[in-house]
Amino acid sequence: MAATARRTRLMGQGLCELVFPLRCASCDEELTELREDVRLCGVCQSQFLKNDTNRCARCAVPLRHASASELGCPQCRDEQLHFSQAWTLGDYAGELRTAALRMKRARDEGLSAAIGQLLWSRHGQAMADWRPTLVLPVPMHWLRRSLRGTNSAATLAETLAWRLGQPLGARLIVRRRYTQPQSGLSPAERLANVRGAFRLRKKHRLAGASVLLVDDILTTGATCNEIARLLRRAGAARVALSVAARTDDRDRR
Ligand SMILES: [Zn+2]
Ligand SMILES: [Zn+2]
Repeated sequence: MAATARRTRLMGQGLCELVFPLRCASCDEELTELREDVRLCGVCQSQFLKNDTNRCARCAVPLRHASASELGCPQCRDEQLHFSQAWTLGDYAGELRTAALRMKRARDEGLSAAIGQLLWSRHGQAMADWRPTLVLPVPMHWLRRSLRGTNSAATLAETLAWRLGQPLGARLIVRRRYTQPQSGLSPAERLANVRGAFRLRKKHRLAGASVLLVDDILTTGATCNEIARLLRRAGAARVALSVAARTDDRDRR
């Protein structure tokens, strides 16, 4: 959906809220107060933050009993990652997984925005301290986007860019191939699937930039890592990730 149309719809929602009570974007429960500007009730917020445990600052997997340093955790230490930092609300499981799946539907764009607000309320300070100068969503191929009518990564990025007061580079990265969804592919297949799938426009805007790359779900990180590689090659000083949910695929290996 065109950005203008979406904005008009969101403004429409704003008008409705003047007349009708504010409701939780996930369970539709009436909200008596808006805690930290997050349009989610307390129950949904705590469900989404249920896996908010100690995580590797570099790749965001839960550390369980492992230890991590700036160089990463046992899972990512030997990987060549082109991003240095990752934030997430929690594991891609339970209610957060259900929400991430709902966020793929155009009618649940309000839920994407609310999850973005929750991500900000949980990690906003750390993200701001990292000092991003540009916020970029992981792009969706135009065909998939027009079939779905939404890209939750773009809505999350819009919310974070607005809170950070930094520009949103909505069309700076182009997905030029219609890739298969990453789910169900092995790590090697995922890597092959995304190689050469993206291209950057207006590379000059990236010189020296600190880029916050935003996506809904982070799995092996192959997609984000490929984009981060392009961004760094085009002159970005550093790249960090902000994602709604993170899979922990150690158990499946
Ligand atoms: Zn709720
Ligand atoms: Zn790690």
